[in-house]
Amino acid sequence: MTKPTVTIVGAGLAGSEAAWQLANRGFTVHLYEMRPKKTTEAHQTDKFAELVCSNSLGARSVDRAMGLLKEELRRLGSLIIEAADASALPAGGALAVGREEFSDYVTQAISQHRNIHVIREEVTDIPQGPAIIATGPLTSPALAERIRELAGQDYLYFYDALAPIVTLESIKMPPCWRQSRYDRDSGETGGDYINCPMNEEEYRAFVQALREAERIELRQFERDDERFFEACLPVEVLAMRGEDALAFGPMRPVGLRDPRTGKRPFAVVQLRQDNLAGTLYNLVGFQTNIRWPEQKRIFRLIPGLEEAEFVRLGQMHRNTFINAPVLLRPTLQWHDRDDLFFAGQIIGTEGYVGSTAGGMLAGVNMARLLSGQEPLVMPRETMMGALFWYVTHAEPKEFQPMKANFGLLPPLQPRVRRKRERYRKYAERALAALEEWMAKHGIQPAQLMTDH
Ligand SMILES: Cc1cc2nc3c(=O)[nH]c(=O)nc-3n(C[C@H](O)[C@H](O)[C@H](O)COP(=O)(O)OP(=O)(O)OC[C@H]3O[C@@H](n4cnc5c(N)ncnc54)[C@H](O)[C@@H]3O)c2cc1C
Repeated sequence: MTKPTVTIVGAGLAGSEAAWQLANRGFTVHLYEMRPKKTTEAHQTDKFAELVCSNSLGARSVDRAMGLLKEELRRLGSLIIEAADASALPAGGALAVGREEFSDYVTQAISQHRNIHVIREEVTDIPQGPAIIATGPLTSPALAERIRELAGQDYLYFYDALAPIVTLESIKMPPCWRQSRYDRDSGETGGDYINCPMNEEEYRAFVQALREAERIELRQFERDDERFFEACLPVEVLAMRGEDALAFGPMRPVGLRDPRTGKRPFAVVQLRQDNLAGTLYNLVGFQTNIRWPEQKRIFRLIPGLEEAEFVRLGQMHRNTFINAPVLLRPTLQWHDRDDLFFAGQIIGTEGYVGSTAGGMLAGVNMARLLSGQEPLVMPRETMMGALFWYVTHAEPKEFQPMKANFGLLPPLQPRVRRKRERYRKYAERALAALEEWMAKHGIQPAQLMTDH
C-alpha cells in the first residue's frame, strides 16, 4: 500500500528536519518553500535552513541546556545537527558553523532525497490533508492571515517583547519579599509576586545605567514598523523619557510595603512566576533592547538580584507565533485537527535548535499518526519534552516564546545544591529518559545523510 503524502510548508530549520524524518520513514513529502520567488525581510539566499543571524547553535557541552538539546536531537538522527557537526568551526565551547556549508549540506540532503519533492511556491492557505506548518518567525503575510483566521483573532502575534527571566533560587530574600499589590494574592504562593525594593539613590543610579546602556541595533524593517514600539516600550526607552517615568510605570511601588521597614519603598522591580513548577521568574515590564552582557551587568544592580542567574535575557524583535498553550497539544498537533501539526519558532520555541526540535517531533509524530500509531508526548525530563510541555502549558495570557533552559526541567529529587553537579545530573537523567522512551516506542534514529 502506498503511504500518504505529507505537505510541509517552510524549508527552514524545522521544516527541513520534519521533511527528513518523514522521508526516511518512507513517506512522500511535498516541501513548499517560497524563496527565492518571494523572500522574507531577513533571509538572504534561496537555501534551506538558512541561519538568518548568528552562526552559532549554542553550547556544545551536554551540561548546558542548549548542548543537551543538541545531543537529544543527535541521538534521534537529526539532519540539522548532522549538518552542524559536519560544518563546525573552531568556537571554544560553542557549536558555530560555516553558514554557507551548513545550509548547502541541508539543501543537498533534502533536494537529493527521493521521497522529497521541493515546490518553490508560497502557500497562502492552510493545506488540506496531512500537513506541517513550519513557516517561522517571518511567515508570509497571506498565510499568517489564514492562520489568524484558523486560530482566532487573539491567538496569533507578530512581535516578541521578552523580559529577562531568572531562576528563583538565585533571588536573594531578603531584601526581596513576596507580596502582590494591595495583597491581591491567589492564596497559593504566600505572595504571587517577588518584589525587589530600591531607595531613591539606588533608583537614580539604576535609571542612569539604563540610559547609558549599549543597545542592540534594530533592523530596518523593525525600525520602519511603528507598531513595534507602540505596543510595548522597552525599559531603557522609558528611562530616557523622564527621570521618574519608571517609578510611575513598571517600577511603581503602590500597594506594596517592605516588611523590613514597614514602609513603601521608593521604587520596586516586580518578578512574576514564569513556569508551572515555580522555578523561574520574569522581570515584569522589563522588555528591552539592551545588549545581553550589559543587561546582566545592569539588572544585577537591582537589590536582591546581585547574583541572579539569567535563563533568558530581554529582547524585542519581529516574530510571528501562535498561542500554543491554547492551540496545540504537546504532540504538536493542532487542538482540533489530528493531521495538522505546527513546528519551529512559530510555536514559541525560540532559536535555531529549539526550532529544529519541533521539526523532529512533528515529523516523528506525523509518521506515527499515518501508520496508525498514537502520536507521542516526550518525557518532561528531556530538554525537548520540557520545552514542548512549556509552550503547550504556559499561562496563555502571558505567553511568550521560550529558549531551552534547565529551569524548565522538573527539579531533581533529592535536590542538588551545586550548580555544575546539578546540570550534570539533569543531563544524565534527560539522556536516560530519552533512550528509555525511544526503546519503549520503537523509535529509531533517522538514517543520516552520511549513511546514504
Ligand atoms: C531577525 C532575526 C534574527 C534571529 N537571530 C537568531 C539567532 O541569532 N540565533 C537563533 O538561534 N535564532 C535567531 N532567530 C530566530 C530564528 O529565526 C529561528 O531560530 C529559526 O530560524 C526558526 O526556524 P524555523 O524553521 O521555525 O523558521 P525559518 O528558519 O525562518 O524557516 C521558515 C521558512 O518558511 C518559509 N516561508 C515562510 N512563509 C512561507 C509560505 N507562506 N509559504 C512557503 N514558505 C514560507 C521561509 O522562507 C523560511 O525559509 C532570529 C530570527 C529573526 C527574525
